[in-house]
Amino acid sequence: MSGPSGSGKTSIIRRLLDRVDIVFSVSATTRPPRPGETQGVDYDFVTTEEFEEMIERDDLLEWAIYNGNHYGTPSDPVDLEISAGRGVLLDIEIDGARQVRAHRPDALMIFVAPPSTKVLEQRLRSRGDTSSQDIASRLKIAESQLEEAPTLFDHIVVNEALEHAIDDVANLIIGSG
Ligand code: 5GP
Repeated sequence: MSGPSGSGKTSIIRRLLDRVDIVFSVSATTRPPRPGETQGVDYDFVTTEEFEEMIERDDLLEWAIYNGNHYGTPSDPVDLEISAGRGVLLDIEIDGARQVRAHRPDALMIFVAPPSTKVLEQRLRSRGDTSSQDIASRLKIAESQLEEAPTLFDHIVVNEALEHAIDDVANLIIGSG
C-alpha cells in the first residue's frame, strides 16, 4: 500500500491488521523515531551506515530515499511469511512500490488517496508532529505521487471516510485471494 503522508494510510493499516489475516512488514529506516513509535514494531530504526550495509548485502526487497531519509523492506521476513502461506502488507512510498511491481508482478498494489490536496494539508497540520517545512515538502511529494498513481497501482481508494476506506481495502485484499 502506498499513499501520500496524511492520506490516512497508517490508520487504515492499523485497523486492517485487526480484520484481515495479514502480516505487517516492519521497514528499516534512518528517520528518527517520532514520539510513541516503538523500535521493531513501527520501524526498525537504524543508522545510515547500517542501512547502507543492508543495501550492500542485498537484504532489501526495495528501498528508497523519502524526504531525506532511507526506508526499505527487508526481504527475508517477507519471503518467510509468503512461504508459510501468509499475506504481507507493505506500507511504502511510490519509488518502492515501483520496485515491488517489478520484482513481484503478482503483488496487489493499492494507493490510498486523500479526497483533495487541501484536506491532505489540513490533516498534516492537525497531526502536530510534522514541521511546516516538512509539511511543504510532503505536499510536493504527494502531488507528484497523485499524478503517477493511476498508471502504477491496481486500485486507488479515496479516503474520505475512514470506515469506508477500511472496508474498501479489506474487500480488495480478501478478494485477491
Ligand atoms: P513516515 O516517515 O511518515 O513514517 O513515512 C514516510 C514514507 O515512507 C511513507 O510514505 C511510507 O509509506 C514510506 N515508507 C515506509 N516504509 C517504507 C519502506 O520500507 N520502503 C519504502 N520505499 N517506503 C517506505
